[in-house]
Amino acid sequence: MSDISILESPTQLGPIFGSEAFKNHEQVVFCQDEETGLKAIIGIHSTTLGPALGGTRMWKYKSESEAIRDVLRLSRGMTYKASISGLNLGGGKAVIIGDSRVDKTDALMRKFGEFVNSLSGRYITAEDVGINTHDMEMVKLSTDHVTGIPQSMGGSGDPSPVTAYGVFMGMKAATKYKWGTDELAGKKVLVQGIGHVGETLVKHLVEAGADVLINDIHEDRLLEVSEKFNAAIVRGHNIFAEEMDIYAPCALGATINTESIPQMNCSVIAGAANNQLANELEHGRMLKEAGIVYAPDFLINAGGLINVYSEIAKYDRAEALRRTENIYHTTLDILTRSESENMTTHQAALAIAEERVQKAKKA
Ligand code: NAD
Repeated sequence: MSDISILESPTQLGPIFGSEAFKNHEQVVFCQDEETGLKAIIGIHSTTLGPALGGTRMWKYKSESEAIRDVLRLSRGMTYKASISGLNLGGGKAVIIGDSRVDKTDALMRKFGEFVNSLSGRYITAEDVGINTHDMEMVKLSTDHVTGIPQSMGGSGDPSPVTAYGVFMGMKAATKYKWGTDELAGKKVLVQGIGHVGETLVKHLVEAGADVLINDIHEDRLLEVSEKFNAAIVRGHNIFAEEMDIYAPCALGATINTESIPQMNCSVIAGAANNQLANELEHGRMLKEAGIVYAPDFLINAGGLINVYSEIAKYDRAEALRRTENIYHTTLDILTRSESENMTTHQAALAIAEERVQKAKKA
C-alpha cells in the first residue's frame, strides 16, 4: 500500500497535451501484451539530470485515466526527489494496471521488463506498491535497467530502513527549526502507518527517547508494534484531535487537507508518505498560516531512492547512509529559506529542485 491519494479522488484526465498533469513530461509509454495480460504505463518526466529512475506500482486502478494521472504525478515527483537529493537521476515511474495479489505472474513481470529494456536505459525501474524484490528478479531476466534487487544478487534490497532513517533525520531538523534543539526526547510523536517505514521510524524514535503514539488500520500490527516498542495506540478516525508535538504520516498520501488541517494539534509534520499535501499550494499555505512546520515529503523520504541510486554504481550502504544523513542539513536550509523568502516549505523545496534541473538544462 502507499500514497494512493489519486485513488481517493479519481478525476477524469480530459485533454492530455497541455494539461497541468502532463506538464513538461518527456515521454509516456503505453505497454500492452495480450498473452500475459500486461497493461502498463511508463512515465518519463525528465532525463535532464540522468536516467529516469522510479519504482513500478501495481494497483487496481478504477480507470485508465486514473492510472495515467498517477504515473504522471509520481514521475514528476521523482524528478524533484532526485534533484533535491543531489543525485544525477531524472524522474520516472511506471504503473501496471491490475491486482498484484491476483493478476501478477512471473511471465507478466518478464514482459514488463522487455518494455523497460526497449527504452535503452532512459528509464530504470525499482519496487513500489504491489511489487517486491522477487518481481524485480523477474524483470532483471529481461533487462539490466532495474534496481532494488535482493542483496544476495548484489543489489541493495529493501530500501525502507534507509527511507526511515532519512525521515528521522528530516524530523530532527524540523524539530531543531521549531524548538531550537533537535532533541526528540520527551516529544510526543504520532506515527500514522506502521508498515515497512513506519515501524523502523518508531524504533529510531523510541531509541531517541520520544513519547511515541502509533496508528494503523490493522489491529494485529498495532498490537505487535505496541508490544515491541512500548508505544501507545491511537485508534479511530479523529487521530488529529490527539495532543501531539509531531505528526508523522507514513501511510497514505493526501492526509493533509482542508478537513484535517483545522483539527491538527501538532507543531511539526515530518513523515514518509508521498504526496502528503492534497493540494500542494493551498494546503502548504494553510500549514504556514497555522504555524505548523512542514518538512517536505519528497525531500525527507528520499533515503530509499538514495539507496537504490548507490546500486547503479556499486552498492555501498555506508555511502548511502551518509548521503541520507545529509537530509538533516538540506531540510534545515529549506525551512530557513522558506521563511526568508516568504514561501511555503514545499514551494521552497520545489524551487531548489527546479533550479538544479534548469541549471543542468542550460549547461
Ligand atoms: P507499507 O505498506 O509497508 O506500510 C503502510 C502501513 O500503513 C500499513 O501498515 C497499513 O496498514 C497502514 N495504513 C494504510 N492505510 C492506513 C490508514 N488510513 N490509516 C492508518 N494506517 C494505514 O508501506 P511503506 O513501504 O512503509 O511506505 C509507507 C509510505 O511511505 C508510503 O506512502 C510510501 O509511498 C512512502 N514511501 C516509502 C518508501 C520506502 O522505502 N518504502 C520510500 C519513499 C516513500
